[in-house]
This record gives sequence, C-alpha cells and structure tokens, in this order.
Amino acid sequence: MGEFDLIARYFQRAESQGPRHAVVPNGDDCAVIAPAAGMQLAVSTDTMVEGRHFLSTVDPARLGHKALAVNLSDLSACGAQPLAFTLALTLPRVDEAWLAGFSSGLLALADEHGCELIGGDTTAGPLAIGITVMGEVPPGQALLRSGARPGDELWVSGWPGEARLALEAFRGTLAPPLDGEAFEAVRLRMERPTPRVALGLALRGLATSAIDVSDGLLGDLGHVLRRSRVGAAIALGALPISAWLAARPPAQQHDCVLAGGDDYELLFTAPATRHADVLAAGQAAGVPVHRIGLVQADAGLRLRDGAWGAEGPQGAGIANRWTSFDHFKSS
Ligand code: ADP
Ligand code: MG
Repeated sequence: MGEFDLIARYFQRAESQGPRHAVVPNGDDCAVIAPAAGMQLAVSTDTMVEGRHFLSTVDPARLGHKALAVNLSDLSACGAQPLAFTLALTLPRVDEAWLAGFSSGLLALADEHGCELIGGDTTAGPLAIGITVMGEVPPGQALLRSGARPGDELWVSGWPGEARLALEAFRGTLAPPLDGEAFEAVRLRMERPTPRVALGLALRGLATSAIDVSDGLLGDLGHVLRRSRVGAAIALGALPISAWLAARPPAQQHDCVLAGGDDYELLFTAPATRHADVLAAGQAAGVPVHRIGLVQADAGLRLRDGAWGAEGPQGAGIANRWTSFDHFKSS
C-alpha cells in the first residue's frame, strides 16, 4: 500500500462521516477553516515518540485516542472549543492492522468532540505522532497561566496520580505490586486519558488561571505561580486520592498525585467568592473538582500536612521532595 492509498483509506473521510468545519477539507494542498465570526483561534501542538511517550506494545486504538487526547487537553486548559486538527505521522512500515486500530481510536475521540481531521503529513521513519489542534475561544476569554491572584482557591479536577501508578507497575518498580483488576483500571487512565474539555469550557469567565497536568501537579503548578508572580499553600489532606491509590502506602500516594504526570487533569485557580460556581461547573461537566490550596502573595510553594481549615491549608510544613518530569534533565 502506497502513501496516498494509506491516507485515503485511514485518514480521509467520506462527506457523511465526522464533523465538518473546514471550508476546504482534507486532501488539498491546504485545508481552509473558518472559525465562527468574531472568535479567536487557539492552537497547540504535541508530539509522541515511541519509547519515550508510549510503549511499542500499546494497543494502537488507545494510542490513537491518547495522541489526540493530550492535544485536546491543552485546548481544555485554555477554555477553547475543539474545531480541527492535523496529523503528522511517521511510520516505520505500513501495518494495516495497526493503522486500522490507530485511526479508529483517534477518529472516535475526534468525533466525540466535533474535532475535524483537516490534513497532515505521512513519512517513513521511527514511529512518531505529531498533532496540531485548533480550537475557538471568544476574544479575551482564553484561560491563561498568568491570572492567579492572592486569595484565589487552587483546584484540581478528577483523580491525578493513577497514570503514574500504572507506569510504575509497567516498570515493575511497584511494592507491593498491583493486583490484576487494579492494574487494568489504572492502565486505562495512562493509556486512554480523558481530556477535560467540558470543564475547560465551563471555567471560562470563572477560573483566573488554568493549566493541564502533564508533567506532574507540583511542577505544572510552578508554571502557574511563576507566570502569575504569586505563591501558594497546599493542604496534603485535601488532595483527591482515588480508590486505587488509597490502597497504596501513603508516601506512594503523595508521589503519584503530586509528581505523577500524564494525568491530563485541569489545575486551576478561581476567586474564593466563586467556590460554589466552581463546584457547579464540575458537576455540569461531569467531573469532580477538588479544592487543594490557596494562592498567596509570597512567592514559592508551602506544603502543609493537614486538611483545609478556617484559614486555608493547615498542619505542619512539609519539605517539597517532589520535582516534575523534565525530558532533558532525566535523559
Ligand atoms: P503535499 O505533498 O502537498 O504536502 P501530501 O502528499 O503530504 O501533500 O498529502 C496529501 C494530502 O493528504 C494533504 O491534503 C494532506 O493534508 C493529507 N494528509 C497527508 N498525511 C495525512 C495524515 N497522516 N492524516 C491526514 N491527512 C493527511
Ligand atoms: Mg506532505
């Protein structure tokens, strides 16, 4: 099968299939898209490389899902509505079973979010997947990293930490080991993450800053604090601990939640006066949201071992032994 047959079979869709936003769709030299009148375009790119971002043995449908999910997660962190994406695929060989699985996982998630595949590039080489996603957002309403203010509450969605638990299980470094049911559950969180698109949209005009957790909660929080020129306190007792994580030793729970990475949850700040609105936004979006800390004027991060008290995070101070993942430092 040649390059053009491959593209036509797996990545170009009949007019009746999938969402349509492009004025000139996939198959021409350029796609042409028209965002709704008055809207701004939000654009983000993420690349996944075999051996670095995924294992060669991963199910191709899950890989297709994840490749788009991590990009949709970036749009959600900006409060953008997904519109379209391009796919740059580097393949070592034409493996039709793999392509069928990959494209089905990819396009199913695309359809779920009304995000149209409008073009791409296909080349031979070591397996790598590059996606550029485009979304739309009303002028001035994109959620940024820079808007956190002292007194804001700090929130995280869902259940961060499970993807890291799965990664450690794959590495065989987990003590005690996970049983089969727990492993399959957390493995799904690592291999098939759910981008929090609806939550990002619900947080427009409500959150003062947002970021998606891809490199670890504390590391990603650091980006928000630096951009916003503020500090924060976190109550370790207020962190969400999923049922699977709750069964693990306490130190491991904290390692996974605070420094796990690959979570694709949203970490965001909102004024304390909007507390009830944030809870309602989570409910409307179908994902629990947890208040874990308080933004403060003093730069830096303070970890407290207690729960949330009358004045915010309480308990004894804990030294920060968690650093976030950095591709170049770790290699
Ligand atoms: P060009 O030579 O003009 O760069 P290509 O031969 O690379 O065009 O691609 C032909 C058409 O197929 C283009 O419309 C391109 O966007 C689309 N395409 C190529 N690879 C992919 C892919 N992996 N997924 C979706 N569309 C693709
Ligand atoms: Mg090309």
